[in-house]
Amino acid sequence: MELKLPERIDRERWARMLTGGRGEAGERETLLMDECEKMLFDAARPKGTYAFSDDLSFEGKSIRRHLEGCTAAVLMAATLGRAVDDRLMRLEVRDLAAGVVYDTGASLLAEQVCDIFEEEIRARVEEEGRYMTGRFSPGYGDMPLTQQRKLMQALDAERRIGLTLSESGLMIPLKSITAVCGTSDRPVTGSLATCDECALRSECELRKAGKTCADK
Ligand code: SF4
Repeated sequence: MELKLPERIDRERWARMLTGGRGEAGERETLLMDECEKMLFDAARPKGTYAFSDDLSFEGKSIRRHLEGCTAAVLMAATLGRAVDDRLMRLEVRDLAAGVVYDTGASLLAEQVCDIFEEEIRARVEEEGRYMTGRFSPGYGDMPLTQQRKLMQALDAERRIGLTLSESGLMIPLKSITAVCGTSDRPVTGSLATCDECALRSECELRKAGKTCADK
């Protein structure tokens, strides 16, 4: 299915990603963000798919903790599409700095598209009187990135939205996200990973800014 784009890319987070957590973008970065935002909205053709599953057996302590109290899972995948990658490759050849701004903006846009998608799924789950946790992606906490393959196969993501995995385990298109949410008849919220167990801790822009996922 086609997914909705947000109205804007989150400038505060984008600046934080570009400045190693300091958060204040300079004049040149701000101009590049304006240009890249236009290019990204022009190129992105977001698509997504989701499915319910009774299989809650994922690898990693943090995802198992997240799904405690849940009786089923929602598996989801979303992508911005190949045109975003094509433009990134062309831009990186022409202007490396612009390429970095575009790349980080595209990652953020994929997350924001996924936020909207997740809320649409949540509304459907809640219509049925059920509860849903937030989403949890392979590569977050100690859930291995290799779990992407399991999610993509269960979702038949290649056929449905053209999402594949390269031999090295990279998702193609690059700006794509897979995730799991737990569902239950009883209220569940899930739980965030701790920074100590998180595979993202060395490059995490939140930590560099003295924040955690709970402050997002
Ligand atoms: S703040 Fe960063 S390092 Fe800590 S759990 Fe969240 S994503 Fe991982």
